[in-house]
Amino acid sequence: MPLMSTPIDLPRSDLLVLFGASGDLARKKLFPAIYRLEARGRLNVPVIGVARNDWTNGDLRNHCRASITDADEFWDEAAFDRLADKLTYFRGDYNDPETFVRLKVATGDSQNPIFHFAIPPSMFATVANGIAAAGLDSGARLIIEKPFGRDYESAVELNATLHEHFPESAIFRIDHFVGKEALRSLLVTRFANAIVEPLWNRNFVCSVKITMSESFGVEDRGVFYDSVGALRDVVQNHLLQMVALLAMEQPVNEHSRSLRDEKAKVLEACRAIEPENFVRGQYEGYLDVAGVAADSDTETYAAFRLDIDSPRWSGVPFFLRAGKSLGETVTEMTIEFKSPPRPLWIDEHSHVPNNSIRIEVKPESFAAITWLHKEPGETMMPSAITLAPPPDERADTGPEPYELLLEEAMKGDPTLFAREDSVLESWRIVEKILTNAPAVERYEQGTWGPTGGRKLTEEFGGWPQEPPVPSEG
Ligand code: NDP
Repeated sequence: MPLMSTPIDLPRSDLLVLFGASGDLARKKLFPAIYRLEARGRLNVPVIGVARNDWTNGDLRNHCRASITDADEFWDEAAFDRLADKLTYFRGDYNDPETFVRLKVATGDSQNPIFHFAIPPSMFATVANGIAAAGLDSGARLIIEKPFGRDYESAVELNATLHEHFPESAIFRIDHFVGKEALRSLLVTRFANAIVEPLWNRNFVCSVKITMSESFGVEDRGVFYDSVGALRDVVQNHLLQMVALLAMEQPVNEHSRSLRDEKAKVLEACRAIEPENFVRGQYEGYLDVAGVAADSDTETYAAFRLDIDSPRWSGVPFFLRAGKSLGETVTEMTIEFKSPPRPLWIDEHSHVPNNSIRIEVKPESFAAITWLHKEPGETMMPSAITLAPPPDERADTGPEPYELLLEEAMKGDPTLFAREDSVLESWRIVEKILTNAPAVERYEQGTWGPTGGRKLTEEFGGWPQEPPVPSEG
C-alpha cells in the first residue's frame, strides 16, 4: 500500500540518467539503491551514468560493483549482472552544450527519461538548460538534490530557471529523510491512533525537541561542508521536513496534493527564527580539516527555538538542533506533555518526568512513550517507564530511502518530494539567521555542543540527551 494513493496519470520513466555518476552520493547511495531496485525486479529501465572521467562501460560497472559491496549490501550476482547489462557510461562536461546534443543521441528512443542531478548545486541550472537546449526536456522528469538554493532568493531563481523548461509536476526535489521509515510511520502513529491525535496540540504538549546529531566530523568533505554549514546542510531541509510532518494537520484525503498542502501550510505558519533564539557552534579541530578555511566561521552545530503560529501549536516551543562531532549519532523527536493539573504523590523535589512520546528516526526506527506507573510496595511515588517495541522490532527493514524515492520519482508520484512552496517557506524560516548569524561558540568533540545550546532548553527540562542536573533537596 503506497503512502498516499495518488492517481498518477503520468507515464513511468523509461530511462534513468545519472548525472554525477563518479561522485560521492552516487557511490554511497545511488548505485546501492538501483541495485536494490534491480534485485527486487523494480528497476526495469536502462541507466546512463554521466561524468567527466575517461571511463569505459566496464569501468562504470566496476565502480558500481565496488559501491554496492562498500555499502555492505547483500550480494546477488544474478541481480548485479542484470544491472550491469542495463548500465552504460557517458562522458561529458556540463559546461559544454555539445554534451547534451550527444546525450540526446545516447538516449535513443526514450520518451520519458528521468534525470538525477547528483551534481554540485552550482551546476543545477546549467544542466537543466543544457537538457532543454538539446530538446531532451519533453516528457522528462528531474530529480534535484539538496540543497535547493543557498537562500530564499537563489531558490526563487532556481525555481524560475527550472520552470522555464519543466512544469512543477516534472520536478522532484529530493530529501532522503522524507523517505525514511520512521517519518512515514510517524503519520500512522499520529493519524491511526485515536488516543494520540487529540493530545497532539497546545492544550497538552509542553514542548517539542528535535535532535539530529552525528558523533563524527566532516571527515573528507571539508571543502563542501565549509561552504554550506549545518543550517544549509541539514536544517533548512531535513529538520524542517521533520517539523512539517510532525506538526501538520491531517491531510483531507490520501492524495499527494493533500499531504503536500498540509506540509506547506505548517511551514507557512512558522515564524522566521530570530537570531537571539539561535546558537551556532563549531567543534574544536574543525579548522584543521582539509579543505576548511583557516579562519572559517562555518557552523558545525546549530540549535534554535521555532514558533508555529497555528491554532494547534501557538505558544508551544519547538527546539531543534543539529551538529557534528557530538556525543552520539541519533536523530529523534521528543514530544513532551504538560504535567497533570494537580500532581498527587509528587513533591517539588521529586524529578518525575512528564509523559512524552519519542520517535527515533536513526539509528533505529520506532516510537516510544514514557509513562508513569506506581512502583510495587508501600510507595505511591510514580516512576517512569518507557513503553517501546521490543528491540527486534525496531530495525528499519523497509526499502532504503533512496531506493524508495527513486522508484516513486520514476512512477511520477511526487508525494515524498518537496514542493516549490515548501522549499521557499523553509528558506524564509532560516533567512534571518543566515544573514544575521551570531558568532560560533567552540565546543569539544564528543560533547553535546556549546553551552548556549544547552541554555536554550533549560527552562523546558533540557535536551533529552542532557537533562539538567537535579538540585539537592
Ligand atoms: P561530488 O563532488 O562528489 O560529485 C559531483 C559529481 O558531479 C561528480 O561526478 C563530478 O564529476 C560531477 N561534475 C561536477 N562538475 C561537472 C562538470 N562540469 N561536468 C561533468 N561532471 C561534473 O558531489 P556529491 O556526490 O557529494 O554531491 C552531489 C549532490 O548530491 C550535491 O548536490 C550534494 O549536495 C547532494 N548530496 C550529497 C550527499 C552526499 O552524502 N554526498 C548527501 C545528500 C545530498 P567529476 O568526477 O568528473 O568531477
